[in-house]
Amino acid sequence: MEWIVLLFVVLFLCESYGSVNDGHHKLLLVSFDGLRWDYVDKVPELEGFKRLTNNGVRAKYLKPPFPTQTSPCHFTIATGLYPESHGVVHNCNYDKNQTGLWSRSNFYSTLAVNEWWDNGAEPIWITAVNQGLRSGGNLFPGSAANMSGVGATKQVLETARTPTDEDAWHERIDETMRWFTEESLDMVALYFEEPDVTSHNVGPDSPDITEVVLPLVSRTIVYLLDKVEEFGLTDDLNIIFVSDHGFQPVFAEEGTTNEQIALLDYVSMMNVDFMFTYAPLALIEPKKGRLEMVYKRLKDAEVNESMRVFKKEDLLERWHYKNNDRVTSIVVVADAGYVTYPQDIPITINHGEHGYDNDVVNMRASYFSIGPSFKKNYIVDGFESIHVYPLMCHLLGLQPAPNNGSLDVLIGTLDNVALRILPHKALSFCTAIIVFVFNST
Ligand SMILES: [Zn+2]
Repeated sequence: MEWIVLLFVVLFLCESYGSVNDGHHKLLLVSFDGLRWDYVDKVPELEGFKRLTNNGVRAKYLKPPFPTQTSPCHFTIATGLYPESHGVVHNCNYDKNQTGLWSRSNFYSTLAVNEWWDNGAEPIWITAVNQGLRSGGNLFPGSAANMSGVGATKQVLETARTPTDEDAWHERIDETMRWFTEESLDMVALYFEEPDVTSHNVGPDSPDITEVVLPLVSRTIVYLLDKVEEFGLTDDLNIIFVSDHGFQPVFAEEGTTNEQIALLDYVSMMNVDFMFTYAPLALIEPKKGRLEMVYKRLKDAEVNESMRVFKKEDLLERWHYKNNDRVTSIVVVADAGYVTYPQDIPITINHGEHGYDNDVVNMRASYFSIGPSFKKNYIVDGFESIHVYPLMCHLLGLQPAPNNGSLDVLIGTLDNVALRILPHKALSFCTAIIVFVFNST
């Protein structure tokens, strides 16, 4: 009889130990789109940045993958995979239909195209759900998509009509806090669209960045940290702040268009099925039998233009980009400060861009972490964004899906208690106890 009582006691303990609070804290992943690695150093006196720096971990920089576009970079942070492996090789869904005609979507439309995101990769919010936790995606790129029919527990999709003012940002934070406390979520990925929008419009060196946008980001961080305290989450919530990429000034001199590369000066649309120019990156699929001719004309133009032209198979190994069916036969990458366009026509031009080679220093992004598991006032060297996913899995006690990152890179940013967190749920531990109880009766 005693062993039955003992068994119930053990099962009760296991239930407690195997719950969300089994030694693991909740996790919030926050992205400020386009927060360049050195933006914070332009205004270090702002309270939000000071609180992160003094009370948490800061990386010298976060190196994004190639291409340094919003969706590919966010999905690399979420999955630990390079774009050729997670399949989100571009901000915009594009495809060739059965009749051979190509189509493409814009950034916002693509956020809702499930097939663009569901390629077998497992973002952290899906890893969490698959292993019994509850997760949420609040506008974070890719988090509204379902993977093999599985989605985050709570999903909010960003659209072109999503409110973007500061009040809307506060509501996003309030909603996220309610998800943690009222909906018992364990992990949430939260997204803010600045400083990207303003950096495109005015360029990264504009006073608007330091006088308007960065104070907004700082106030938002303060609001968020205060809400964490107000909702009683201070001791149970780790927060990782990231950005997806940096920013490069273009068309810095008002009224000039010299930084514009007009690809149709070299290649006629008569010879290509698909030409998709998107700031520095151009994807080109020549018509059947015309690959060599189109490639030669573009390659010859390298002497006149600030760009590099690649056949797909010759794309740089370090970009981890070419091994994916979605990448076209020819890829053009403009040098930093230049952009590609189909033709030289008067258009509205941005003064800041990203999408360049990820070795360009201006493409570097930001990383901070704060919470009960992290060291305080600690600086870590720059690292690739593939390493965030294994850290998030470790913090949540999840078995990571296959990924390109390594926990070793960021394990030193954790305090001693966090280092001792069990890598997985305590089920096997409890099973071992039960076996022991049976054997001893
Ligand atoms: Zn972005």
